Amino acid sequence: TTSIVLFTQDLRVHDNPALHAAAATAAEVVPLFVLDPAVAEVGFATPNRLAFLADCLADLDRSLRRIGGRLVLREGPVVAEVMRLAEQTGAASVHVAGGVSGFAQRREAALRQRLGARLVVHDGSLNVVPAGRITPAGKDHYAVFAPYFRAWSRTEPGVRLPAPRRLSTPPALRSAGPPHVRPTAPRLPTGGETAARRAWQRWSPDTYHEQHDDLAADGTSRLSPYLHFGCLSARELVAAATRHGGAGAEAFVRQLAWRDFHHQVLAARADAAHSDYRTRSDRWRTDEAEAQAWRQGRTGFPIIDAGMRQLVAEGWMHNRARLLTASFLAKSLYHDWRIGAAHFLDLLVDGDIANNQLNWQWVAGTGTDTRPNRVLNPLRQADRYDPDGAYVRRWVPELAHLPGSVIHRPWLVTSGCPNYPAPLIDPAFLSRRLGRGRALE
Ligand code: FAD
Repeated sequence: TTSIVLFTQDLRVHDNPALHAAAATAAEVVPLFVLDPAVAEVGFATPNRLAFLADCLADLDRSLRRIGGRLVLREGPVVAEVMRLAEQTGAASVHVAGGVSGFAQRREAALRQRLGARLVVHDGSLNVVPAGRITPAGKDHYAVFAPYFRAWSRTEPGVRLPAPRRLSTPPALRSAGPPHVRPTAPRLPTGGETAARRAWQRWSPDTYHEQHDDLAADGTSRLSPYLHFGCLSARELVAAATRHGGAGAEAFVRQLAWRDFHHQVLAARADAAHSDYRTRSDRWRTDEAEAQAWRQGRTGFPIIDAGMRQLVAEGWMHNRARLLTASFLAKSLYHDWRIGAAHFLDLLVDGDIANNQLNWQWVAGTGTDTRPNRVLNPLRQADRYDPDGAYVRRWVPELAHLPGSVIHRPWLVTSGCPNYPAPLIDPAFLSRRLGRGRALE
């Protein structure tokens, strides 16, 4: 028999339930990835993510070749391409990982309609605890993280699966060369499972609990692009961190639970990718010049500008900076969170509908935050998480000469910052406005 494995956000051979099941049950396996133009049409196929994806596919192909297979690449509407290949190969089954986005859910429904029982969906691939596996009584998802995390921590993740030892791809499909190499994007990390496993092995969670909020220390794992494309299995990471033990590993595992939390919200509420999860009483303002200054890292608030410039330069931003820059746009400038979320998705290599949109909603007060009035004061946060200004100095070089934490308030220096913009909002006014009736942090 022949089975197709449709790769989606699971671009790896280790702990891959769909690949494992196909290799264990079929004589011939067709590993397939489809570049669907619909992804580009909605603007999700951005240059940064495409460059990373090209690495991932090339690496996956190399791994499959080592065990006798090949990655088959097709371009076109995903369901039509799967059906065409199923017909061509007489495939008895199509294996795919369960997804959480509206796109993934529609893809699965359309494949189910055409393939019926020949479609096998594996839910142990994307998350440690698959979306929908745990729910509060009478509801289809958790809306509050703390009880979710308690239930999540009690749930045993599925058994981790080894990479298949051998695989045979039908000879007619073996002729294709390896997927194209990436266009040049020098500051992006190298994609693919091999690079992912190397990065994971190099990183230790030992000081994570103390350092993960320190902007200059850069003490987080930077595994998010690999997790987004499924080059690493989240449940493998949790198992390894649990074996490692300690406060750092525990804090790291908690962040992976946040990832699952947002995924289970989106799986139940696909509309939360675009619509407010909860309604908020504030009204949004529109001011394109302000939004553009924010995107370009020219707001005049150094800590905000540092984060925004890191995003442009690296296709990645530190979590604390994501919180601050998002809060600044949504709660200081009162711009619609969708404007900021779209800009993040344009550039983030780890750009993920669930984690981006729902984190934005969390910050904007339209999401699952139990304290939707929480506001992050950029100056207080800068003093706390970048006390001597090292993060700002790295990303805003025109202020690098300012000593210590003075760098966070260049408007106090009467001369010497000619190339740096004046603050978009009067800092004193901002502090008063942020303080009014809100929980200021
Ligand atoms: P680490 O601190 O090493 O954490 C390990 C892993 O846990 C991460 O790789 C990630 O998969 C997960 N994780 C950590 N924090 C969160 C979180 N708050 N929510 C969900 N998962 C988390 N993460 C994305 O993967 N894609 C996004 O598009 C994205 N957009 C965001 C937008 C905003 C406004 C905010 C505030 C956060 C966003 N995050 C997003 C979450 C978080 O900022 C990143 O996952 C993290 O910065 C990635 O760096 P890291 O791998 O070093 O994380």
